[in-house]
Amino acid sequence: MSIEIVRRLADLRSVVGGWRRQDLVTAVVPTMGALHAGHISLVQAALARADRVVVTIFVNPKQFNAATDLANYPRTEAGDIAKLQACGAHLLYAPAVEEIYPPGFATTVSVAGVSQGLCGAFRPGHFDGVATVVAKLLLQTGADLALFGEKDFQQVKVIERMVRDLDIPIEIVPCPTVREADGLALSSRNLRLSAAERAVAPRLAAILVATADRLAVGAAVATTLAAASAEIIAAGFRSVDYLELRAASDLQQHAELDRPARLLVAAWLGETRLIDNLEVTRRGVGI
Ligand code: AMP
Repeated sequence: MSIEIVRRLADLRSVVGGWRRQDLVTAVVPTMGALHAGHISLVQAALARADRVVVTIFVNPKQFNAATDLANYPRTEAGDIAKLQACGAHLLYAPAVEEIYPPGFATTVSVAGVSQGLCGAFRPGHFDGVATVVAKLLLQTGADLALFGEKDFQQVKVIERMVRDLDIPIEIVPCPTVREADGLALSSRNLRLSAAERAVAPRLAAILVATADRLAVGAAVATTLAAASAEIIAAGFRSVDYLELRAASDLQQHAELDRPARLLVAAWLGETRLIDNLEVTRRGVGI
């Protein structure tokens, strides 16, 4: 079976409507293209859970902070289609900007709380852009489940909150981060790293792992995080936007590791901003 490609909402609705009439379970995997093994793992998880899988490719202008970042975002549609075909996705929805934001479009979905702090503090408006486009893609596809990567942990929390608050009838399925053999989290932005930067990049994940280990056995949170930030800079990163321990459930700040937590980081390597995060559980305390 070759993958079907649609670019118009009417065509998407007609294909998915046909599946619904046959009682087929549909999953959607929203992406911005430049597909790598992280995206493909979401498609595979979707195929394991659903009868039909829609992948969306839409480079959403509303979630970029800098025009140059949007302009430079990799666009590799032919290669993406080949990868989706190879892994067995059923439908690609790749709308033009006007299909998502027609003239007169005036609605913004803004999720308070979980959108604030972390990436929200450094990328003003980013999560409004994400929530707005994801709400549209979930409603346009009418899928039963939607899969998202924990690589973008705060994004998952924003989408979970939005879906609950707006009663969007869909199950959100978070999926683990896929990494290179050296630990670097796969990201379309890794393509921008120079060879020297690429050699430094995996230090971010390594420092996260070591820090999570220290916290897990009871190291003091504030001093451990300060030392880890210094290690990231010493490794060759230009700056650290944030390195924080947050509650895994709702990203609330906690000074102590007294509940299941997530260690989240964003740091600049040259002109490239890398993010990563890791689960932290206090060992021997039973949380
Ligand atoms: P993007 O194309 O960057 O918007 O990402 C589309 C989806 O793929 C989001 O749900 C991301 O969280 C997910 N994703 C990106 N990188 C990874 C990764 N390394 N492992 C797992 N999922 C990922």
